Amino acid sequence: MRYYDLHCDTIGECFIWNKALFSNDLHLSLKRAGCFDFYTQVFAIWINDDLRKNFAADYFRECANYYDAQLKINKDYIKKHNITPILAIEGGAALGGNIEELYRLNERGVKLITLTWNGENEIASGCGKTEGGLTDFGKTVIKEMNRLKITVDVSHLNKQSFFDVEKFSKKPFIASHSNLDDSKVKKGRLRNLTKEQAQIIIEREGLIGINFYNKFLQRENENCFDAVYRRVYEFCDIGGENTVAFGSDFDGCEIDIALNSIEKIPALHSFLQSKGLSDEFLDKLFYKNASDYFKRL
Ligand SMILES: [Zn+2]
Repeated sequence: MRYYDLHCDTIGECFIWNKALFSNDLHLSLKRAGCFDFYTQVFAIWINDDLRKNFAADYFRECANYYDAQLKINKDYIKKHNITPILAIEGGAALGGNIEELYRLNERGVKLITLTWNGENEIASGCGKTEGGLTDFGKTVIKEMNRLKITVDVSHLNKQSFFDVEKFSKKPFIASHSNLDDSKVKKGRLRNLTKEQAQIIIEREGLIGINFYNKFLQRENENCFDAVYRRVYEFCDIGGENTVAFGSDFDGCEIDIALNSIEKIPALHSFLQSKGLSDEFLDKLFYKNASDYFKRL
């Protein structure tokens, strides 16, 4: 099967704990990802909110060097198993407030930037703050990201920043790892998307990646696979059949044992098939919506 995942934090975990990307005890390893016929993974480098200015830019650079080195030593395996890694940033603080840094990141191959994490940075404000939207610098960043075809990711933004992005981005934007807001789940009321926000992403032909974080995904006593099915259904119910995808958040959160490792994805596919979802739609959900989006850019 084919699988396309819009978000994981694995590379940061490998870097911090000095673990190998090929074989490790994390949610994701290249070795275990060999179970797919074709597999594309967005590897986000997470910038903690206590890093700003050159500290954020330096951290990104060191972590990206580690990512490059890990890909290099595994290049034969990556090719043999049709694995496509995509470099991304979770936290636009990595620009250090300097637009020139965006051009360097573009040259380095960054294809997607989650504008904030939960706090505020030079670009915008995250969901941990209720006030503050896109800054003037943020508006310039979005204009240049549009021109350079770097995807704007609105996961983690607060409401005002989200609606500012809607206004200022000329290109479709995505929520790489966000679910629909649900009063019956434990966490994420401000972090996940309202129906209105999801509908805007759908109308703008962006993407929404379903997040596997157990406290965002599941209601109390709800089976993990049933919860994914419900989440898929919720997005389709508002017209998101061509928008919905997966953004697992592997190695960025706690995930139910049924889904906490990359090689468990085929079982999810079989489960959704058993629920009666068509093969045509499952192809869209597991890779085609995401791959079509990046082809459209
Ligand atoms: Zn995140």
